Amino acid sequence: MSVLIFTEQSNGAIRKSSKEALSYGAALAIQLGVKAEAVVLGTIHQDLSTLGTLGVSVVHHCADEGLNTMDTRRYTAVLSEIASSIGSQVIVFAHSMTGRAVAPRLSVRLKAGYISGATGLPDTSKGFVVRRNVFSGKAFMDVSVDSPLKIISVNPNSFGIKEQEGVAVVKPFQTSIAPGRVLVRETKKVTGQVPLGEAELVISGGRGLKGPEHWGMVEELAGLIGAATACSRAVADAHWRPHHEHVGQTGLAIAPNLYFAIGISGAIQHLAGVNRSKVIVVVNKDPEAPFFKAADYGIVGDAFEVMPKVIEAGRQLKKG
Ligand SMILES: Cc1cc2nc3c(=O)[nH]c(=O)nc-3n(C[C@H](O)[C@H](O)[C@H](O)COP(=O)(O)OP(=O)(O)OC[C@H]3O[C@@H](n4cnc5c(N)ncnc54)[C@H](O)[C@@H]3O)c2cc1C
Repeated sequence: MSVLIFTEQSNGAIRKSSKEALSYGAALAIQLGVKAEAVVLGTIHQDLSTLGTLGVSVVHHCADEGLNTMDTRRYTAVLSEIASSIGSQVIVFAHSMTGRAVAPRLSVRLKAGYISGATGLPDTSKGFVVRRNVFSGKAFMDVSVDSPLKIISVNPNSFGIKEQEGVAVVKPFQTSIAPGRVLVRETKKVTGQVPLGEAELVISGGRGLKGPEHWGMVEELAGLIGAATACSRAVADAHWRPHHEHVGQTGLAIAPNLYFAIGISGAIQHLAGVNRSKVIVVVNKDPEAPFFKAADYGIVGDAFEVMPKVIEAGRQLKKG
């Protein structure tokens, strides 16, 4: 019996959201009195025994190069093989793009109840009840699962990364699963920038910036503090910025330590992707902009007057 945690990697390094899933899975394993085991797919450039510091005792590593690229069908097949061979009772994912693609498929294959976007550990005092966000984070719901095998995806920033002392045993896992029907010929990754999904600091612009020619101030501030850049959907739809920067309900859901929003109204669909940020700073000339209700700090003012002052302060700070 064990809790199995699917651990995503990017370019050979474990993703931040998966470190949180590992901490969650390890805490759940203690709660259930079983082992916490991790599974890692593809080529990896770090010592996997260090995942013991996140509370797992065993890491199953399938180093098959074909698993370096995400293929939902193949990932599902391999995970199903490992989970069945070790008798997992709960499988934990990060509620990431990959988690959201693979977990439902695995739940159908293994006939497991699936709770997506969990925000806390299950209440096991009367069954197995997990809290999750609904209506874009406006409300929550307690879901009871009674299938013998359960699958949970954990909302980023809802549990945190908990480190401790520990060394995990790494067990190589060979798979005979044939490549899937989808052939990925090429993956183009954004390089030279902080990846948005992993960023601790994010500077984001909306339609209030009037046009792509004004993005210099977003980029300059981001460069000064080592932040990633993001935008609202309206901006991406207008082709002012690339779609991979669009955050929100239909874009990327992020949970950085700082989300700095300039000229964004704060529509509910935008908030759905950013309201798990630790600190939200909003610059908007309309004091009634809905974003101020979600902000920790707000500046009511014209971005074209406010931002040069913020950037100058950033420059001074950097000079020390
Ligand atoms: C099904 C659905 C899904 C959606 N998904 C998403 C999503 O994932 N992400 C997303 O972002 N949106 C999403 N939207 C769109 C969303 O409803 C809003 O239309 C969008 O977020 C608005 O973008 P915006 O705030 O940049 O623009 P606007 O709504 O035009 O707001 C611009 C803001 O800038 C302020 N402003 C103007 N000039 C200045 C200035 N000089 N200085 C400072 N402030 C200024 C204004 O006061 C205003 O608040 C979705 C909509 C639907 C229906």
